[in-house]
Amino acid sequence: MKLIRDIHAARQPGSKPVISFEFFPPKTEEGEKTLFEKTVPALLKLNPHYCSVTYGAGGSTREKTLGIAQRMQDEFGLLTLMHLTCVNATKEEIRSVVADAKSRGIDNILALRGDPPGGTGEFKATEGGFEYSHQLVSFLKELGGFSIGTAGFPEGHIACKEGREVDWSRLKAKIDCGADFVVTQLFFDNTDFLYFRDYLAKLGVTVPIIAGVLPIMGAGQIQRFCQLCGAKIPASLLARLNEFSGDDEGCAKFGVEFATRQCEELIREGVPGIHFYTLNKVPSTAAIMGNLGLAG
Ligand SMILES: Cc1cc2nc3c(=O)[nH]c(=O)nc-3n(C[C@H](O)[C@H](O)[C@H](O)COP(=O)(O)OP(=O)(O)OC[C@H]3O[C@@H](n4cnc5c(N)ncnc54)[C@H](O)[C@@H]3O)c2cc1C
Repeated sequence: MKLIRDIHAARQPGSKPVISFEFFPPKTEEGEKTLFEKTVPALLKLNPHYCSVTYGAGGSTREKTLGIAQRMQDEFGLLTLMHLTCVNATKEEIRSVVADAKSRGIDNILALRGDPPGGTGEFKATEGGFEYSHQLVSFLKELGGFSIGTAGFPEGHIACKEGREVDWSRLKAKIDCGADFVVTQLFFDNTDFLYFRDYLAKLGVTVPIIAGVLPIMGAGQIQRFCQLCGAKIPASLLARLNEFSGDDEGCAKFGVEFATRQCEELIREGVPGIHFYTLNKVPSTAAIMGNLGLAG
């Protein structure tokens, strides 16, 4: 199946979740070599349904994202979801990236607004570009031929001052514009995800809400990530993380246990898909998949 919406449509309720792995384009040639020679072959053994490739801040990895997405499909036969943002791009520039993606056989796009350059401050649309991701969703829908994903925030988007419910009504608008599925930002408290999912259901959302799960690999690293994206670290988790300061190996082991428990509960709750933020690393995602009986 070439479209992610078809993979979800074919999944029987109550069966195993659809599994995807997220990768980012490495900065160096050496990093790209490791990605293709070691990381991807090792993770492919786990049989994910598809992978995704991020689009660098400020649209900085356009060529790399396209190239990696194409190689994932052509060389490894792994269906790929390409992330695409509106940052630093006019509508015509986005049209040309999308045409390029299509010509390379990429039919699945995660339509994002992107963050302001530097990751903080107020987002300013490029003249002749899009201000919000629902415009990109509509644009892709009009072009046709894509399965379109959109981002969801179980705690509300960091920049939405009006509260999480307002953010979620905007997410509903993105779906109404043509998004086929939602991939969430990382979260550590399943209660947030389940409340978000149920709230969306009450709004009439029926598309799959895919849980984004980040295996914790280091105490300092995860706190930096969460500060940037606004995800909360529950007090009990923070207390455990503080025990691993300076011990990334111990922390990663704990992270595997934590994510395993988190995913077990999500699966019991009938989550249709789990999207692992692999951070281009094999051991944690592989261990969690093994613990869940989802590997292979
Ligand atoms: C799964 C996932 C993958 C990601 N991948 C990438 C990536 O590859 N590259 C990257 O740069 N970033 C990525 N991001 C980060 C993302 O680009 C940022 O979180 C960004 O700030 C929001 O993107 P969005 O598509 O949700 O934006 P939008 O849906 O446009 O929302 C952005 C903000 O605007 C508000 N808003 C929306 N519509 C309206 C409206 N009509 N009026 C007023 N306010 C409105 C929303 O409430 C929100 O606060 C990813 C995020 C997720 C969850």
